[in-house]
This record gives sequence, structure tokens and C-alpha cells, in this order.
Amino acid sequence: MDAANRAEALAAYATETAGCVRCPLAETRTQVVFGSGNPDAELMLVGEAPGFHEDQGGLPFAGQAGELLGRLLAGIGLGRDDVYLANVLKCRPPQNRDPLEEEIAACEPHLSRQIELVRPLVVATLGNFATELISGRSFGITRVHGQEHELTLGGTSVLLYPLYHPAAALYTPSMLQALEDDFSRLPGLLSRATPVPAPCPQRSVVAQPEHREAPEDAELAEDAAVAAGATQLGLF
Ligand code: URA
Repeated sequence: MDAANRAEALAAYATETAGCVRCPLAETRTQVVFGSGNPDAELMLVGEAPGFHEDQGGLPFAGQAGELLGRLLAGIGLGRDDVYLANVLKCRPPQNRDPLEEEIAACEPHLSRQIELVRPLVVATLGNFATELISGRSFGITRVHGQEHELTLGGTSVLLYPLYHPAAALYTPSMLQALEDDFSRLPGLLSRATPVPAPCPQRSVVAQPEHREAPEDAELAEDAAVAAGATQLGLF
């Protein structure tokens, strides 16, 4: 599918998803917050879930965390329209509570389809929920932020790049510094990443690590074993 066809399919999928009733959040949301930005973006950023402003306005990252994200993107010469923004959950959890396992599972096909259609080179996951969902690993963002990792998502090879969530960084200067440092590596990662079609389409985008030779380091070997055995969601 060429870029125009993928953009059309993404718009059609957004329309379809607007009426989603896959989980009980459908009863409390104002609207589905599908995603926004360039449907052919090289960089996709995946957050956690819509909050109050997103639920009201229908666009991801509309509040304070979104302002910080906009500044971070501007710092590397990108605007919100250059990238694609999405969340693990498309509907706001009441009182902005953490996403539940069953909500993440119900919503996962939407993110899978978005990744499949946008075909980003780099997927930057913001915070634990997005990182754990897409990687299928449970190490926590403090340990893995800033460490890129090749995965096959939506039938193509992408670079997963875990980052601190901007909402957390708003209140913790050391996290903000780490987030800025990690962001500064994005242009290099984007120029390094090249689209490599996978041999056959994947059913789900999450947790399908590239085949790698067994590392000698015992801890890395364990990581690889966890990843190799990761199931669709790898929730922790
Ligand atoms: N706004 C979003 O759209 N996602 C988040 O994770 C936080 C704020």
C-alpha cells in the first residue's frame, strides 16, 4: 500500500473506531481520542491514555504534558504535524486512573493497526504503559529509557525507543533532563533507521522481537529469553 492509500485507510479506521465499545470506558468517555499528526510519519510517539483535555478536544497530548512534548519536538526541529501521536488507550479512564489490563487488551488492536498503517521508522514510547505493551517486557522505564531496540511491528522493522513520560518529567527535574537528553538522540536514530519489510505480515504489532544471537552476558540472555517468549501483550 502506498502512503496515500495508507492515509486513507487510517482515516477510515479512525471513523470506525469513533464508535468503539470494546471496553467499559466507552460509557464514560466524551469521545474516542484516536490519534493525530502525519499519517506517513517516520516518528510515532505513543503515550498512555487521554486525560481531561484530550477527552474534551479529541486530540492526544492537548494539556501541559502536550505542551512539553511540543517544546521537545521543536528542540529537534519537528512539529506535531511531522510526527504521529497516539496512546495505548483511546478513551479517558475516569479520574485519569491508570489503564487496566483488560482495557489495554481491548484497545491494543487499534494501536496495532495505527502502527501498521503509519509504518514509522521509530516508535518512541512515553512511560511505562506504552513501553511495556509494545516491548512485551517489564523492566520499567527508569531502566530502559533512552535504549533503542529493534522490533518487528506491523510487518516492518522499527526501532523502539522508550522515553520518560512528559507528564512525569514536568514535576521531576532529573527526569526532564533525561528526557531532553534522550530526545536529542532522536534525529540520529531517525537517520539511522531504514525501512526493512518483514517477510510476512504480523497479526499484532506488539512484542515480536527480532531474532538475535544469544548474548553472552547472563542478564541480557535472560532479557532475550523473556522477549522471545513474550506473548501478545506482555503485561506485567
Ligand atoms: N495526554 C495524552 O494524550 N496521553 C498521555 O499519555 C498524557 C496526556
